[in-house]
Amino acid sequence: MMKKEWESHLETLRACRRCPRVFAPPVVGAVTDASILLIGQAPGPREREAGYPFAWTAGTTLFRWFASIGVNEARFREKVYMGAVIRCFPGKLPDKQGDRKPSRLEMENCSIHHRTEMRLLRPSLVILVGKMAIETLIPHGRLDEVVGLAFAMEEEGHPYTAIPLPHPSGLSRWIQKPEGKALVAQALELIAAQPAWEDAFGRNHGGD
Ligand code: SF4
Repeated sequence: MMKKEWESHLETLRACRRCPRVFAPPVVGAVTDASILLIGQAPGPREREAGYPFAWTAGTTLFRWFASIGVNEARFREKVYMGAVIRCFPGKLPDKQGDRKPSRLEMENCSIHHRTEMRLLRPSLVILVGKMAIETLIPHGRLDEVVGLAFAMEEEGHPYTAIPLPHPSGLSRWIQKPEGKALVAQALELIAAQPAWEDAFGRNHGGD
């Protein structure tokens, strides 16, 4: 990868103010030369404050999942580029009961950053977290039709494996059910068996 091109991408991303309704700045979880990319949904207010993805309760669950296959949060953040369907906090819903779902236009606007990252990083493994992220690559109806499976994908001649996970939100009942938990465990096993994961974290995972 051209270092200059990568730095220029990060500069463009951090300075992006294309969507008028979102709350800048973009939250960036950049790792130079990562061979694993995680795509989340959209940052929340805590992530915007902290300046990095999955900084709050959903992150606690997400990193507990990865710890179950031997990789702690610090190691994960060091090796995995954490992107998202949109990189800015979309704002609260009017009733303040949750965050606004990004609009189609916002997702389209932000996909330009994703495409640049795919071109520059050429990751072998893409972990999709949450329905919105999954749907950008794998059209589906239900989480239980895709979680627990690995998908062979190709983007501009670059082959990679995509593995979906549900969103680790505390509001999700799907991840609390025994069937949901079993499918998450299956998906994590698939992730741990990927060559890109073994290269990043070692065969016995942990890597440290
Ligand atoms: S959501 Fe994406 S495209 Fe929109 S302003 Fe933020 S970084 Fe730019």
